[in-house]
Amino acid sequence: MFVYYHELGHIIQFSGAEKRIVEEKRAKAFAKKFNILDHAEEFDSDEFAINLTFEQLKYHWEKTISENKSSEALEGFLTINVVALFILFDLLSGGVTLPLYYEKYDHPHDVIRIIAIIGIFMDKFDNYIDTKKSGNKILIRTFEILKNILVENQSVDKFLAAIRSDRTKIAEYSEKILHVRSQYAWMAGQQMSK
Ligand SMILES: [Zn+2]
Repeated sequence: MFVYYHELGHIIQFSGAEKRIVEEKRAKAFAKKFNILDHAEEFDSDEFAINLTFEQLKYHWEKTISENKSSEALEGFLTINVVALFILFDLLSGGVTLPLYYEKYDHPHDVIRIIAIIGIFMDKFDNYIDTKKSGNKILIRTFEILKNILVENQSVDKFLAAIRSDRTKIAEYSEKILHVRSQYAWMAGQQMSK
């Protein structure tokens, strides 16, 4: 679901910026170099995708009969979805690779993307229902579950180590990408947030 929405985000970007993308692709064919706009497009598509994923989950939650609704049930529901997002990235990339990189390659580092995605996801649920008290609990439980699933490539340990060592750099770089993104009105996630 998330991947589908992410690619849809790229298609929407494409329709708004056809010329630029054609030029970019041509330039890329010659040198597949870092371009911060590529990173901004990935971040933007991620934001677009997580917003739509959230709407869908909200729909399912609201359809749940009220006697089955409790803060514990919502916490469990949230936890499973954060776990699923993490596993999705892990499967796509073959596990977290360290060290982190910033101004390199055509996609931002997965750890940076996941942090941004989960951040948006938790914010959306915070606004939807008061989960502030359980936000930490959800993340702690998420990592407990993940540790048992992603044993082989030690992705959880690597992920936590990256946060510990690069917390400030990650935040600064994410801000930088979002600043670039904000200059392009055709970005899909950007259009959605208006
Ligand atoms: Zn992408």
